[in-house]
Amino acid sequence: MPELPEVESTVRHLRERVEGLTITGATIGWARTIHTHTPKKFVELVEGATIREVFRRGKFVGLQLISKSPLFLFIHLRMSGSLDVVSVESEPSPHDRVVLLLKGGKSIRFNDTRKFGRMYLCEDPAEVVGTLGVEPLDESFTQEILREISRSRSGAIKPLLLNQNVIAGLGNIYVDEVLWKASIHPLTPADTVPPEKIARLHQAIKETLTEAISLAGTDFGDGVVYGGMYRPLVYGRDGDPCDRCQSDIEKIVVAQRGTHFCPACQKKTRRRSTSRAYPAKLR
Ligand SMILES: [Zn+2]
Repeated sequence: MPELPEVESTVRHLRERVEGLTITGATIGWARTIHTHTPKKFVELVEGATIREVFRRGKFVGLQLISKSPLFLFIHLRMSGSLDVVSVESEPSPHDRVVLLLKGGKSIRFNDTRKFGRMYLCEDPAEVVGTLGVEPLDESFTQEILREISRSRSGAIKPLLLNQNVIAGLGNIYVDEVLWKASIHPLTPADTVPPEKIARLHQAIKETLTEAISLAGTDFGDGVVYGGMYRPLVYGRDGDPCDRCQSDIEKIVVAQRGTHFCPACQKKTRRRSTSRAYPAKLR
């Protein structure tokens, strides 16, 4: 499933090729891909609109359109969606769910074998991305912010990092990667992670995402994104030796997601019961 680096790579790929071009029409192969409108209404609204800017927010690809009214098209690739820019004459694929035809003979094709991907057309971006959390590569995502986020949550750290309304863009692959780099067990209660590990986690998030973007992400997961060259150090490597200590990497399930970690480097810590949680007289 494409995560921040893969979506960012998609955005960069589109930006160079379609910014400034006008949409002349659209064909819809799978109606449910369009979440907000009927196919007919969708085509009506995008026809004649010009693509002003391509951007990313969390795991959404965003297109700012200039039309009669301000319009934003958000695309979530979900499990297997991919966006490419091809000539209108190139052979269609049976998995093309939406094709946007562009002036000058190009088209944007949204290919999605598993059909979970969605498009949202709206006037106000907040309708689609309004609840998303902080962007991890933004300057506003500081060590202090991550400390605050973890301090206020007693649940396990991995589901917290996967929560798009807390931090936008991390998914299963990169969360496993950054927890390994910071030597934090995925089930550690978030509010018990010590400050020095929060600092390492913060650095790992920034570094890993930046490195992965520079390599066009990874095509290790379901979403094959333009031959991404990032090779996970722990994700999907259960049974392999850990790069740091040579112990076998293990796989467990956390928050219904396959989770990879090194049991030697990422020791599970237990919450110490405090007198506040268990008053002495009740023990
Ligand atoms: Zn290890």
